[in-house]
Amino acid sequence: MNYCSNCGSKVSREIPEGDNRHRFVCANCDEIHYHNPNIVVGCVTSWEGRVLLCRRAIEPRVGFWTMPSGYLEIGESTEQGAARESAEEAGIDVQIGNLLSLVSIPQIGQIHMIYLGQLNTPEFLAGEESLEVKFFSENEIPWDDLAFPTVRLALEHFFADRSRGEFTLHSEVIRRPETGSNKQ
Ligand SMILES: [Zn+2]
Repeated sequence: MNYCSNCGSKVSREIPEGDNRHRFVCANCDEIHYHNPNIVVGCVTSWEGRVLLCRRAIEPRVGFWTMPSGYLEIGESTEQGAARESAEEAGIDVQIGNLLSLVSIPQIGQIHMIYLGQLNTPEFLAGEESLEVKFFSENEIPWDDLAFPTVRLALEHFFADRSRGEFTLHSEVIRRPETGSNKQ
């Protein structure tokens, strides 16, 4: 960040009084610009035992499969965000249930919250961000062509919980290797 989004003046990087981290601070209007993690919301939606996945039409990971998910918007609850992403990417009208997977990825500042979803009607339509939308049974899941580790985790938890007959919340942390790659 170079300029204040509040007043347009040049910002400096410093530790504000009473804080213990560097922040971008505007000396003109006194605004402190905090940079906090983003929340990604989505859901694993099932219909008659099969799970809905979308093949990504956008970078990163074009052509790979994911459950509908995306960044939470200001003014939304996490459940509303998960339902909106499902409507946008897969054209589905989904009933959001319990939280299935909570994943922190500290190095890229993301929190992923993946819910369980039930379809209200079995209608779907690939949105602009999807090449294709499809329902998969457990043994049809394209495990080698999933877009991100968070997708794999959520699907593994979904199928393991389903076979146990009880869904619970799975909370975990993904630490990326320091050498960096385009994987999440
Ligand atoms: Zn300012």
